Amino acid sequence: MSGSCIFCRIVAGDAPARVVAETEDAVAFLDANPLSPGHTLVIPRDHHETLGDLPADEGQAVFSLLHRLVPVVERAVDADATTVAFNNGRAAGQEVHHVHGHVVPRFEDDGLGPIHGLFDSRPRIDRTEMDEIGERIASGFE
Ligand code: AMP
Ligand code: ZN
Repeated sequence: MSGSCIFCRIVAGDAPARVVAETEDAVAFLDANPLSPGHTLVIPRDHHETLGDLPADEGQAVFSLLHRLVPVVERAVDADATTVAFNNGRAAGQEVHHVHGHVVPRFEDDGLGPIHGLFDSRPRIDRTEMDEIGERIASGFE
């Protein structure tokens, strides 16, 4: 536990939250400043900053709870879909440095589009560079 981390304090019961689901290794609670009704956060109980820091078993616990919870959240607010996303690291806009998945209910008429809308345009990457990037990722995968 990180004493200065608001999400660790929620897990410990030291800060208020609308907890909606708990498993041995993961907890889900409503986002206090929701992007849409039912906006829910899913976190590992233990403090890890990013997905890359998360041990595999805790990653499985987070995904398992996301998997169970997404249809429940959609039904609860009569959503048509959900955007499920991690702001993974400071440069990606992560503000609470305890890894968390956002479950944001979406509606046919919300007019917001996909998360591709974050990007104004796509970079030009030639075939050689695409091959090199693919090879770097593939060779780094253990
Ligand atoms: P992020 O930018 O991905 O780090 O998002 C952090 C999210 O945590 C935001 O959507 C906040 O509204 C939410 N949040 C921050 N503090 C609390 C809290 N005490 N309880 C519930 N949600 C919180
Ligand atoms: Zn924490």
